Amino acid sequence: MTYESINPYNGTVLKTFEEFTEEQLETALQTAAKCFEAWRHTTFAERARIVDKVAALMNAKSDELARLVTLEMGKRIDESRGEVVFSADILAYYAKNAERFLAPVKLHPAIGEAHMESSPIGVIFCVEPWNFPYYQLARVAGPHLMAGNVLMVKHAANVPQSAIAFEKLWIEAGAPAGLYTNLLISHDQANRVVDDARIKGVALTGSAAAGRSIAARAGQNLKPSSLELGGSDAFIVLKDADLEHTIKWAVWGRMYNDGQTCVAAKRFIVAEELADTFLKRFQAALAALVPGDPMDEKTTLGPLSTESALVNLLKLVDGAVANGATLVMGGKRINRPGSFMEPTILTDIDPQNPAFREEFFGPVALFFRVKDEDEAVALANDSDFGLGGSVFTRDVARGERVASRIETGMMFVNNIDWSDADLPFGGIKNSGYGRELGDSGIQAFVNKKLIRVSDAHAPA
Ligand code: NAP
Repeated sequence: MTYESINPYNGTVLKTFEEFTEEQLETALQTAAKCFEAWRHTTFAERARIVDKVAALMNAKSDELARLVTLEMGKRIDESRGEVVFSADILAYYAKNAERFLAPVKLHPAIGEAHMESSPIGVIFCVEPWNFPYYQLARVAGPHLMAGNVLMVKHAANVPQSAIAFEKLWIEAGAPAGLYTNLLISHDQANRVVDDARIKGVALTGSAAAGRSIAARAGQNLKPSSLELGGSDAFIVLKDADLEHTIKWAVWGRMYNDGQTCVAAKRFIVAEELADTFLKRFQAALAALVPGDPMDEKTTLGPLSTESALVNLLKLVDGAVANGATLVMGGKRINRPGSFMEPTILTDIDPQNPAFREEFFGPVALFFRVKDEDEAVALANDSDFGLGGSVFTRDVARGERVASRIETGMMFVNNIDWSDADLPFGGIKNSGYGRELGDSGIQAFVNKKLIRVSDAHAPA
């Protein structure tokens, strides 16, 4: 396997990179382990100086960094710029708040005095996906470096330029050698990194298959892990929803990042009273998207990230139809160069259809009509995934009640504002475990140590 940067807009190979040799990997591990021995003793202020500097560099270079993402994985340029700025915000958030999140906590035992303190555990190995090439990195770098840990990161094979650009920011910010290392390594090498005694924790964001493989390995080594995996989020429209508002979110929720978002709206579950109107308006809004160069601000439909992503998604749609689903619109490759797919809606997907349990990672919406709230909740929960979901209704209290009944890690009422630096992000079931972002995001790889003090002269 090679790290290859290919523009999915036109198929041009931009750059290829050799994988690390065993010697390079060993040197990187040694450097990271050595760095930890010094970094663990730095103050929060010293760590924040570097993390804040990287945030500032990201903002200063937002255009250049955004262009790389658009070139390598086809994200529309305004979304790429938004991602860069948001990633900088996440870094700045942890630079500002880490000390507070990790401050000692006084406990109140029946006898004596006690407190918990938090300390870093060592070099953390992160495996990250291509769909948000910087945001995924900021989500691990901000909290774990501020906690005093050191990072080694294996990014996805199709975004090596973004991966290297992010690593360079740390060097430019004056980070000590080994604080943040980008690893161009194979899956085999990744497994061996998990086994390596110098690695003390493993974080993976990606597919359930990758999560199973890496977490099993971490488990064998008795190392803590966190997993942010796929999803098939329900977008529930109750009969009193404001359709104008709902359709806007439906389009954004399904089509942002060309549908390649773990927490995108993937299953549209609509009350029968609104179903026909919703479907008609949703279809019209998707049909109005115009494919083009993702570097052009006017483009409203970009390519998928890679040719293989497109081919796999087309196969999934064909399989769904072969097993009884009805194609309402789309389902084909767009007849032009590049890895473009028509926005697609499928309906009549019954639970026996394998598509019912799949994650459609691209511009494909599964549409269901339901007779009432209970049926909507039951259908939403009939999923192997449990990442996020949303409910649309004019009655906010009802929306909150429905949100509470859905078995996922995150729910959104009348919006899909997925992610903010200060709010926890993550799922249950096949969507993984652990939380990134917010206070929880920094607690994953720290030693929460109890210190109990008793009177030395008290009887034992
Ligand atoms: P993927 O194939 O699992 O790849 C993700 C990362 O894991 C890549 O760096 C990949 O490396 C690596 N990887 C895959 N199999 C591996 C193995 N056996 N050993 C070591 N490393 C391995 O995921 P994808 O399909 O490209 O990405 C999309 C998936 O990520 C979707 O399911 C999406 O929902 C999920 N995701 C979840 C979140 C979240 O926060 N919950 C966020 C974003 C995406 P290579 O590229 O070298 O194969």
